[in-house]
Amino acid sequence: MSTADAPSRAGAILTIDLAAVAANYAILRERLGGVECAAVVKADAYGLGAAVVAPALARAGARWFFVAHLDEAVALRAVLPAAARIAVLNGLWPGLEATFREHDLLPVLNDLAQVELWAARGRAEGAALPAIVQVDTGMSRLGLPPTELAALAADPGRTAGLDVRLVMSHLACADEPAHPLNSRQLGRFRAARRAFPEVPASLAASSGIFLGRDYHFDLGRPGVALYGVNPTPGDVNPMRPVVRLEARILQVRRIDPGDSVGYGAAHRAGRPTKVATVPIGYADGYLRSASLRGAFLVAGRPAPVLGRISMDLITLDVTDVPDAAAQPGAFAVAIGDARTIDAVAADAGTIGYEILTGLGARYRRVYHG
Ligand SMILES: *Cc1c(COP(=O)(O)O)cnc(C)c1O
Repeated sequence: MSTADAPSRAGAILTIDLAAVAANYAILRERLGGVECAAVVKADAYGLGAAVVAPALARAGARWFFVAHLDEAVALRAVLPAAARIAVLNGLWPGLEATFREHDLLPVLNDLAQVELWAARGRAEGAALPAIVQVDTGMSRLGLPPTELAALAADPGRTAGLDVRLVMSHLACADEPAHPLNSRQLGRFRAARRAFPEVPASLAASSGIFLGRDYHFDLGRPGVALYGVNPTPGDVNPMRPVVRLEARILQVRRIDPGDSVGYGAAHRAGRPTKVATVPIGYADGYLRSASLRGAFLVAGRPAPVLGRISMDLITLDVTDVPDAAAQPGAFAVAIGDARTIDAVAADAGTIGYEILTGLGARYRRVYHG
């Protein structure tokens, strides 16, 4: 569907290219050179709609899916093929076991208490229950700390009742290839694996995949790169753009030198200026910290953000855009073409992840492919 076909009442249109998501999955799989590739679809597939995006990834070949919350996993189970393996990164606590069993979900066991809880359930059922064990190699966030790992390694009986399908860890600095913590975590992960002989292993998320073969083990776990954000900051983005965000011009006005624009009169015109107002604001995830920074595109020309970003509106400088193109009803591109999510993030002083996961609920969403 092109912009012209979109319902005419939409003020802002978010287009999500599912063919590009599938192409990105293929690029990452190629990078992994034969190693299996999971899909991380937490936070509603990074804001893009897990109910649509996850099945597209399954069609592209993904068999492993990771979410953060149990509720996300329950919702995902309803839209994925029965054979899909769905893992819950946030782990398990007492009272959740039945829900994991009912929906055939894998808990990521993050400490010894969780290991014992799930193993006890397995012994009670007389079955070995599928699970993932996460070890902490330097993130100090989730996962068995070294002392708990040692306790587990010393007493393999603790895993009776478990079918450990994967041992995993997470890198803290994979987007900085030269950071010394990368190789330190790699060393710790290799050592940790000795507690789980024969069990497949996973260390790399999006950026980790680009650190090379040593980091690949048996399963890659990309999220953000699937959705077009650059996993190699500082280098050319190897991924295809997925998201396009366009906002309808509501009104165009001419102001004189000295006139101000928006709250706080934060911009004062230094020349006769043509101002276009578009219906996107910080309530839609276009962060206020990007006030007075960066430019949308109107008819392919930069239209700099003027003044402060308000809740529902942004004002653009369209002085250098021909009148015929900068008209009410025409669309300004906030993300897309030459304007990447990473560029918007830089303007807002944040990372592409935050822009993506914050994309607003008020956008008219259109899926392609
Ligand atoms: C979010 C997350 C991922 C995916 O990370 P990306 O950087 O988006 O690829 C992988 N593994 C874990 C444990 C995560 O929390």
